Formats: sequence, C-alpha cells, structure tokens
Amino acid sequence: MKENQLFKECYSLNEIEVLDKILEKVIIPLKQHDGVICDPVVSAGDRVLVGQKIGECSANYCSCVHSSVSGEVTSIAKVPHPGGNRVESVIIKPDENQESVDFVPAGALSPQGIISAIKEAGIVEHFGTPTHILLNTKKEIDTVVINATSSEWIQGKYDTPADYASQIISGLKLLMSAAEAPRGAIVVRKDDPETIEAFESATLDGNPVHVAPLIGKRRIDYYYEDLGTDIVVVSQDPMYGKSLLNLFTYNITGRKVPISCDPSEVGVAVCSVKTSKAVYDAVHDGIPVYETVVTVSGAVKSPKKIQVKIGTPLKDVIEACGGYSGEPGKLIVNGMITGIAQYTDEVPVTKTTISIYAQRKEEMVIDEARSCLHCARCVDACPVDLVPSRIAILADRGRFDECMDLYVMNCIECGRCAATCPSKLHILQLIRYAKASLKKVYPETIQESENMHSGCLLNGGQ
Ligand code: SF4
Ligand code: SF4
Repeated sequence: MKENQLFKECYSLNEIEVLDKILEKVIIPLKQHDGVICDPVVSAGDRVLVGQKIGECSANYCSCVHSSVSGEVTSIAKVPHPGGNRVESVIIKPDENQESVDFVPAGALSPQGIISAIKEAGIVEHFGTPTHILLNTKKEIDTVVINATSSEWIQGKYDTPADYASQIISGLKLLMSAAEAPRGAIVVRKDDPETIEAFESATLDGNPVHVAPLIGKRRIDYYYEDLGTDIVVVSQDPMYGKSLLNLFTYNITGRKVPISCDPSEVGVAVCSVKTSKAVYDAVHDGIPVYETVVTVSGAVKSPKKIQVKIGTPLKDVIEACGGYSGEPGKLIVNGMITGIAQYTDEVPVTKTTISIYAQRKEEMVIDEARSCLHCARCVDACPVDLVPSRIAILADRGRFDECMDLYVMNCIECGRCAATCPSKLHILQLIRYAKASLKKVYPETIQESENMHSGCLLNGGQ
C-alpha cells in the first residue's frame, strides 16, 4: 500500500471509533513514562472514578497516572507491560456507572503553574519523556514546536476541523507560556490536505491562518518576519520519532543540534500534537490523560483507529477490531521496525501506545542468526555513523564500557542496521541491551543528564 494511501486511511478525522464497552478489567501501569515509577495512592478494595489520580511521585522526572474507568481496585501487582517487562500496575474492575471526578478547569496559571498542571495531568510525549521535563530545562527555550507531521487526529469531539486546529493553537500558547518561549510553530504534513484545511479555517489572534511551506532555506524564522506573527503554521515532509527530533529541529529552524544532544541545546522544545491537545484539556477543562487513540492493523478482521481507555488489554482492542483474522503470528506494539513484539495480548494500552500490528503467521520471518560477514552494510545504513556490528559483538560479550566508547548512547534505535543485515543478527536488541545495562551501571550520570535535561546525553564516556 502506498504511504499516502495508508496515511489517509489511518489519519482521518472522521474515522476514529470509540471502544466504549464495559471491560472485564483495566490494567493501569504506574510507570508509563521515562523516569521514576509512581507510588500508588489507592489500595485494593478502593472505589475509583474516571480521571481520579491513582499514582504520583514527588520526583520531578515522573508523570502522574489516573484511572480511566470507575470501579473497584481489585489488586496492585506486577504484571506484563508492553515494554517487555513486568511493572507494578493498578488493576480495576470497571462498574456500569462510569462516573467521573468533577473536572475543574485550572484558570489562569503562571508558567510554573502550567508545568505543575502538565505533570499532574500525566502528559507525556509518545516516546515517553514527561512533557514538563521538555519545558523546564536549564537551557533557555525560545521556540516551542508542535510536530503534527507524525500525528494522528487525536481524541476529542470537534464540531469542525477548525475547532480541532484552534485547540491545538491554544495548547501551543500554553506550552509557550510554560517554557517562557516567545515563539511557537506548528508543523503539519505537506501531503495532508485535511489538516492543512483545518488550520486554514482557524484563526490566530483574530487573523486567518496561512499554512506556509518550508522550502529550501525558508525556515520558520523567515515566516515569523514575513507574516509578522510569533506563531506560524508550516508544512513539510513527515518526520517523526524521538530519534529524528534533531534532524526535525534543523529542518524547521536551521539550528544544528550537536551530536548526542537534544533540541533544548539549541533553545527548541519539540512536542507532539497530542501533547498540545492534552495540555489544552488539562488547563481549560481540568481533564487528565486517561484515553488514547491506537491504530490497529494487520491480521485483524476490521483494521481501524480506535479510541480506548488507557489500561485496556490488547486482546480487548483486537476484539473491538473484529478479532484476529486467521492465525496471528506476532503482536507488535509501536511499529514494525522498532516496535516490541508482545508475548501476551493481556498487556495493556499505555499512554505511549500508538499502534498495534498483528502480524500474520505467513509474514513472519524466522531466521536463525548467523555469524557476522563483516560486509559493513549495517555501517552504511546507520544514519548516525555508528559501527553497529562492532557494538553488537561487544554488547553480546557484556563489554558495555567499550560499547560506550563506540558511542552506543548515540544510537537512535532506528533499526536500519538489523533490517539490512544479511546474517540476521539481532543488532538492535543487543544495542538496546547495552544501553539499558549502561543506564544500570551508570545511573547517576545518565539520570542526572536526563533530569537536568541539559540537552546532552552521555557521549562515549567522555
Ligand atoms: S539502530 Fe542501528 S542503524 Fe539505527 S542508529 Fe542504532 S546502530 Fe545506527
Ligand atoms: S550487516 Fe550484519 S553481517 Fe554485515 S557487518 Fe553488519 S552485522 Fe555483520
């Protein structure tokens, strides 16, 4: 299927179904973000309501967790998580009422107040970073960019596409206030006429919005001056994933992010369009994150985008898509190349679940890894100039310090090395293993870097 066609099928405003049946149980992990796990603030036997906070943590690098249903907490236990491990989770038996807490709009807030509201509402980027961490850095942020090239039409009831666009713009303004950034930009896909039309039918401070194409050296600075506004909406090719944020930042702003640093190093905070809407909901309506939209495709009878409650087991999502068609081979969460294959469909949807792909048995490639041929195809494929073959061998032998010397922490986990390897070596898994091991061995160095969000991550042990 051509990419454009797939995009159109997946990302249409009117094609999101809602899974609203009463589930047997929901499983809400107390860690759905990078950083520190939440402590539960409820106990087995408690009755909880939709939107009630059930997990919190005093550490900054954390994001609160809320119940997506009303019902009884049956247990708090370590259960399988889509990340591949077992995570302490609050398990709730939903009731028929589905009663919510009273959502209280936050009203006018200071920058610090918005940051606290974002943490309290449990807003995280789709790659796991709590959003308030992106905004509250040691670096001065002068531009907040909403990456709407990767994003989906998000949950919410919109009377018109212009409503959708105006909520995203309002969310951006809140993010700019939180970061005390004078400028903002929304970047949409140039091949997404529906989104472009939505923004062009909205207004910005009373003026019509013009979606300007980024061409050549015309980056956002050009349009700030040309249009005389502090917020611009621009269009470009799709670009998504945490791994490509630096390239995205360069394309938009012309600022080069130094190797092993992130966009905050050059004064830019990049948030997703989902974040923008979630911030709008949190501040304007007092609604925390407890639902998300997931794209389900592959060996299911009725592939679709579906809005589900966080904590819904994957098997219930699959059932809402008509069930498996034929014998499923693998269930992959968040992408064919870099996603994680699940060993059970009992794991729940979390805040960072974007897609579920049921791979047909006949599509599965079960190859046994052979020895490295030293063909260097993985080296050619690597977009950040690593030597994946060497790092993989060192990781396999547990020589993690040497992996660090080869800049393993710079790996953006794109999976190209593994995809191109004729020997079918499990390069990406070995690299992830090395990175996770280094985080355990040098937690302070890496945690400090993440906590400070100073922009630069561990760089080859230097
Ligand atoms: S996954 Fe492989 S190709 Fe991609 S950045 Fe990491 S080492 Fe390079
Ligand atoms: S592509 Fe595979 S076989 Fe070739 S050098 Fe890299 S790891 Fe070795």
